[in-house]
Amino acid sequence: MICNLCPRKCGAERTEHHGSGFCGMGTLPVVARVAPHYGEEPCISGKKGSGTVFFSGCTMKCVFCQNFEISAQNKGRAITPSQLADCYIQLEQQGVHNINLVTADHFMPAVVKSLEIYKPQIPVVYNCSGYTSPKILSKLDGLVDIYLPDFKYSDDSLAIKYSSAPNYVNTATAAINEMIFQVGTPKFDSDSIMQKGVIVRHLVLPSHTKNSIDVLNILKRKYNHQIMVSLMCQYVPSGQADKFPKINRKVTRREYEKVKSELFALDLNGFTQDLASADTKYIPSWDFAT
Ligand code: SF4
Repeated sequence: MICNLCPRKCGAERTEHHGSGFCGMGTLPVVARVAPHYGEEPCISGKKGSGTVFFSGCTMKCVFCQNFEISAQNKGRAITPSQLADCYIQLEQQGVHNINLVTADHFMPAVVKSLEIYKPQIPVVYNCSGYTSPKILSKLDGLVDIYLPDFKYSDDSLAIKYSSAPNYVNTATAAINEMIFQVGTPKFDSDSIMQKGVIVRHLVLPSHTKNSIDVLNILKRKYNHQIMVSLMCQYVPSGQADKFPKINRKVTRREYEKVKSELFALDLNGFTQDLASADTKYIPSWDFAT
């Protein structure tokens, strides 16, 4: 196929196993880990875990990515849509609260096919960078129950500098608009496990509290209580962060408290992480298997 799937619109040739586009991936999903995961927001992980499928490759190139082994080095195993559907069944049988598809944009046609082969009886979570095209999201309408996008930057120049992602703010806000249109406002079951809705994640970067505060204000102004906000401080310099002195350290308590204060002042609904989360021990291990 000639691929123009994501906002990159590479027009690149992709076969099942090879791709010459920005994401570097073929069309068959490459999977790095399939397992219950307990590190998501409480309403996603609950007590029984979230049934995560981590996909390899990414349409962004964040210099600090903590999952760079799979996002940039593309490690993993290629599987068919039918095998992917089997992964959902296996996870569901383990009793997880939901099926959580992590960074699947560049495999969207195969992911849609897998969900048509087997639509889980539990909510499907689409966990993505937020740098996503309406074309991808429209295909997921009716198949996804919960969207979990990132909103990383309020400033396009930072998005270019750290993630090589032009027109980031407009792209991410258009994507979140579509997500809310599809799944509506947050809904929970009697155990406070999310069944429908959008949680927007924002990772605080060291030396960039202004970016974070501006992100929160954009979310307030555009979405307010239509979404939940998950404020994250788990940043640990990874990948190529050592080439960028401002982000080559963890977030300080003072920086995080400043951003948290803004979140509370804006009265946004959501979650905050404990600073102790900024530890490499919370990065999943990749088994490159199904
Ligand atoms: S999915 Fe990959 S190949 Fe297709 S447009 Fe995006 S980056 Fe390019």
